[in-house]
Amino acid sequence: MMAAGTAARAGARVLLLEKMRQPGRKLAITGKGRCNLTNICEIGEFINHFGKNGRFLRQTFHHFFNRELIDFFAANGLQTVSERGGRIFPLSGKAPEVVSVMRNWLNQSGVTLRLNSPVEELLFQDNKIAGVRVQGEEFPAAAVILATGGASYPKTGSTGDGYALATSCGHTIIPPRPALVPLICADNFTNPAQGLTLRNIGVTLFIQGKKADRIFGELLFTEDGVSGPTILTLSRQVVDAFARGDQVEIELDLKPALDAKKLDNRLIRDFHQRGKENLASILRGLIPKELLLTCFMMTAVDPERRGHQITLTERKKLLLWLKGLRLTISGHRPLAEAIITAGGVDLKEINPKTMASRLVENLFIAGELLDLQADTGGYNLQAAFSTGHLAGSAAADSVITVDSNLTPS
Ligand SMILES: Cc1cc2nc3c(=O)[nH]c(=O)nc-3n(C[C@H](O)[C@H](O)[C@H](O)COP(=O)(O)OP(=O)(O)OC[C@H]3O[C@@H](n4cnc5c(N)ncnc54)[C@H](O)[C@@H]3O)c2cc1C
Repeated sequence: MMAAGTAARAGARVLLLEKMRQPGRKLAITGKGRCNLTNICEIGEFINHFGKNGRFLRQTFHHFFNRELIDFFAANGLQTVSERGGRIFPLSGKAPEVVSVMRNWLNQSGVTLRLNSPVEELLFQDNKIAGVRVQGEEFPAAAVILATGGASYPKTGSTGDGYALATSCGHTIIPPRPALVPLICADNFTNPAQGLTLRNIGVTLFIQGKKADRIFGELLFTEDGVSGPTILTLSRQVVDAFARGDQVEIELDLKPALDAKKLDNRLIRDFHQRGKENLASILRGLIPKELLLTCFMMTAVDPERRGHQITLTERKKLLLWLKGLRLTISGHRPLAEAIITAGGVDLKEINPKTMASRLVENLFIAGELLDLQADTGGYNLQAAFSTGHLAGSAAADSVITVDSNLTPS
């Protein structure tokens, strides 16, 4: 949508072909329905959130970045608000509103939007793009922008069609794989805590028994494992680790603000002061009730023990569990459930100044279809908006240059 509108505003005649009945189905469910549009952090930090491929985006972001995106939405009637960690959301907190703003803008830009129109084939003439085919019907075009997204959440329309379309013109596809994906636990210890969100905890990732990363934040217990921002962020490394056949564990520090000594003192005090109460009741002051069963299953300490009965060994076990709840990870949820598809069109084959294909003249590629993936925090949508904006303006330039004094098309 951003690519189409930008191209139209730059003077090109634009047809936007959308496979679904509605455009922006994925956009409408982003950020748990609130749409984390972008992040306000500065360009260097922003790029770091994309890992090694982030450098590709530097020029794109110089062309159209977070401030420009916020101004764009403000100019189109959508106010935004900055939240924890520099995350930008619509003030209304409603992702579908972002979609309607984009649709109105497309309309005003003069873009023709054709729905229920899956592009099945790219058409070429002498290694130049000549148009596309949709259900047997040919649409000639002097330039084509491919922005079909990745292969996750296929019900939103991103079913991975772009990989085949890009391959058909010789592009290399870095194998698509899930990124920002929930993890599956090997044991059922955390099942009783399903649906519980823990805030401000420490999560350490171990790969082959070695500490690989440690982050702080929110974690959600799911039906078969763990999710939430900390896990989604770590999941990229986990997916790669499983691809190598490595063993993966995570360790939760439920009380990162207290070191082991302070927490031990707290336990000693609680067991002493509340000596007649049972352990389950005493621990309620330290952890949510949904986690109690997990605690007793994993430590094998009897919940009916009274505070004054707790032995030194039992106290040490509880302390160890609170500071280092270890879970063996047996896998990750499938690509269809990933927030982002890692992999995609090889960036070496794309000109970062224009998003133009280096292989086929007047073909442009933008968005998640490219081999770009970032952490949660608004980075992925900004990349889609920025690459779309650049592709739109470069595609319009190419068409207008091609037609020189003729009518732009
Ligand atoms: C649940 C969820 C929450 C998310 N939350 C956030 C968030 O808060 N912040 C953030 O930064 N990122 C978030 N993301 C990631 C973000 O939504 C994507 O990175 C972004 O939407 C990618 O934009 P895109 O335009 O490249 O692809 P998409 O948004 O997937 O759009 C691709 C479009 O192309 C259409 N299409 C596909 N194939 C064809 C075809 N053959 N012919 C015609 N049309 C076709 C699709 O129907 C779709 O409309 C989230 C993702 C998910 C799944």
